[in-house]
Amino acid sequence: MAKVTLKNIYKVYKGGVKAVNDFNLDIPDKEFVVFVGPSGCGKSTTLRMIAGLEEITSGSLYIDDVLANDLEPKDRDISMVFQNYALYPNMTVYENMAFGLQSQKLPKEEIKKKVDQAAEILGIKDYYNRQPRELSGGQRQRVALGRAIVREPKVFLLDEPLSNLDAKLRVQMRSEITKLHQRLQTTFIYVTHDQTEAMTMGTKIVVMKDGFIKQVDTPTNLYMHPANIFVATFLGSPQMNLFNAKIVKDGKKYKILLEDGTENVVPLTTNKLLEITDDNFVDKDLILGIRPRDIHIVPNTEDGFKIKVEIVEKLGDENLIYTHLFGKKEYTIFVVDAKQEVKVDDELTIKFDEHNIYLFDKENEESLFKIPEYNYFTIDDINKYLDIEELSKKIY
Ligand code: ADP
Repeated sequence: MAKVTLKNIYKVYKGGVKAVNDFNLDIPDKEFVVFVGPSGCGKSTTLRMIAGLEEITSGSLYIDDVLANDLEPKDRDISMVFQNYALYPNMTVYENMAFGLQSQKLPKEEIKKKVDQAAEILGIKDYYNRQPRELSGGQRQRVALGRAIVREPKVFLLDEPLSNLDAKLRVQMRSEITKLHQRLQTTFIYVTHDQTEAMTMGTKIVVMKDGFIKQVDTPTNLYMHPANIFVATFLGSPQMNLFNAKIVKDGKKYKILLEDGTENVVPLTTNKLLEITDDNFVDKDLILGIRPRDIHIVPNTEDGFKIKVEIVEKLGDENLIYTHLFGKKEYTIFVVDAKQEVKVDDELTIKFDEHNIYLFDKENEESLFKIPEYNYFTIDDINKYLDIEELSKKIY
């Protein structure tokens, strides 16, 4: 069991920097939680408060329902892996991995057994006698992971552990860490600024900005139901296109007017209309978001927006097309299959897939659509609520 609960946690550094504001989160046992957000948003500070390396200014931290604010790091039963590995340079790989267990005064044979087991999982047994400087970046990071594993902690904390590795190794280590999580069945809390790492590794993602949590959910739900413009544009590559928008009444129906142009119209489908939670949505200043994969080329004879192709970026299997729409100074980007021949200066008609539009209030940047309140549940929840009636009570 390793549950971590953060209640109304704040961190104010000396000099008044408010690094973390009212952070509330329940991390159930065996979860792989990722804190993601741009540099300086408070991810590391939060992780370091959980580790006990940084004092909590106010609020409560519980590890397995025990108040942990004042526990020494060594008494929290956690292990931390850092971006710069933090290995002892004068010790061998074996000594680095065994060090923590030796300070716990475990018998030699037991230490050997635990180190062997971890080294086996990570494939580093052949390097036992090498020093860190004789290893590649990826091998060093494996040793750092091994040192964390041997202690069999309740919670693993990982602070940007892959940032110093090259792109290929990062992808490989990403799947190794995911496998490690499945094998160890322990709670992982992982910090990264990289949305791909967050989306591919996390079972639950916490998106942060300026010390605040912007949204918490599974990768799929964050992508499908972003609660605000920040989350909508932070996740997804290329980033979601945004336009000024207004919903206007057209007889008995509604339509969406983009960038104040009477020709720039997207229909508001009945389904989307039903999703809107704001009673005063007509004529309000809104932002419409559309992902680059939800804009499609249609025959020139169809209704749609006429564009001229300005840039074609070839990615291999698909191409990114850049154009200027509705006189906006930012590019609008959309994605086409590489087999579809599109060249610079081509004149095309494009359409937004109206079933996949997003609408946000321009003022507070929150979604106009209902975000499922509890669209996240763990394996344990499912087991507990196998009774479908109980499960639906929890969801609806
Ligand atoms: P992240 O991990 O998301 O990049 P951090 O948690 O490191 O962000 O930092 C959050 C904010 O706190 C930043 O504004 C940073 O400058 C500030 N900060 C971090 N460490 C300290 C410190 N020791 N003293 C003062 N301010 C700090």
